[in-house]
Amino acid sequence: MTDTTHSDTISGVEITLDNVVKRYPGQKAPAVDSLSLTIPAGEVVMFVGPSGCGKTTSLKMINRLIEPTSGTIRIDGEDIRGKGADELRRSIGYVIQGGSLFPHMSVAKNIAIVPRMLGWSKGRIAERVDELLDLVGLDPERYRDRYPRELSGGQQQRVGVARGLAADPPVILMDEPFGAVDPITRQRLQDELLSIQRELRKTIVMVTHDIDEAVKLGDRVLILAEQARVAQYDTPETILAAPANDFVDDFVGSGSGLKQLSLTRVSAIELSIRTTARVGEESADVVARAEQAGDASVVILDDRNRPVAWRFLRQLRRSSQVQPGDRESLITLDHRATLNDALDTMLTSSHGGALVCGDRDQYLGIIDFDSVTEHMRAVEKHAAEVVGSSATQPTGYAPTGEGTP
Ligand code: ADP
Ligand code: MG
Repeated sequence: MTDTTHSDTISGVEITLDNVVKRYPGQKAPAVDSLSLTIPAGEVVMFVGPSGCGKTTSLKMINRLIEPTSGTIRIDGEDIRGKGADELRRSIGYVIQGGSLFPHMSVAKNIAIVPRMLGWSKGRIAERVDELLDLVGLDPERYRDRYPRELSGGQQQRVGVARGLAADPPVILMDEPFGAVDPITRQRLQDELLSIQRELRKTIVMVTHDIDEAVKLGDRVLILAEQARVAQYDTPETILAAPANDFVDDFVGSGSGLKQLSLTRVSAIELSIRTTARVGEESADVVARAEQAGDASVVILDDRNRPVAWRFLRQLRRSSQVQPGDRESLITLDHRATLNDALDTMLTSSHGGALVCGDRDQYLGIIDFDSVTEHMRAVEKHAAEVVGSSATQPTGYAPTGEGTP
């Protein structure tokens, strides 16, 4: 994350792994073979690598869902073996795919599991539940008493994230949390996580098999080869521009120049301005305004400046006044979204562009194909230059051509 708007207070703590080994009974080779790693306080570190390379095993050793065969794990300097496994798990948020909600418990009950175990008062729990629902973008009034089956996949995942944050733990572990939702929902969840993290500055360790997600969310990315051997551990920028070896190069993929798009936020692009209108305005006035500006469509805003619809002029002409729209069903793009996300969203739009919103869904403008294409050309050119120049410098890594590290 390259935003400069981070809050100054880090609530996360450092995690270190020192020669950690996990050997499952009956397995010849260890699942994790001597992993050493420092995860800095307040950062998001993404574990990425092929299936079966030991990502989940490594993650679960941090909250003692799996006990290491040997080696030491410290959280905030303290050996985790010094704490009971239950106590440890209450101080670490854990979020997995689908949210893993209990089906017979309401949303509020699901979120309150750890606070209840910690003996919080009813009032404090209720307040916390509403605060968290708000944070993950679900209206508390509407959702707190629902059951998981009454929620979409994306909403269940949001509740899962809220539950992971419930007791305000300094460390959050996430295992492919957004793997089960559609691409647009995944993108929104990722953007929300970035926005939450900017405020909270937790230490977040997230497993993914998706290099794009790793690059988008990670302050650092850990690329693992078989048996959790570290292939590269660096910032997304460095990994994309200068893969340490063939394994990383293959994993990152040939389009690493294109993948730089995952590093560029919509906020870096100049947005275009389109005619806007308020619900209830005279349609004839709005159409006249749009025609004068040469716009074929108009963005409709509510009284809090949030877009509720994006209509073509022919649609506006059907009624004398501008009609309200359903804000929740309108697809918008967060200004923190990446250009990759923007392209996905634009492809689903009949307008050849996407509505961009800032904090609290405030309307900012429109991103269209032309501005993205223009930016892509510049980025590709720059990436080619960076890769070209780094190839001539000694890297200290194994030379290419020796296979996996
Ligand atoms: P990843 O999350 O990267 O896909 P895992 O950590 O789940 O990988 O698994 C790493 C290796 O350990 C795999 O070879 C897997 O088959 C093996 N493994 C995982 N869990 C167990 C288990 N409970 N018992 C035996 N082998 C396991
Ligand atoms: Mg796994």
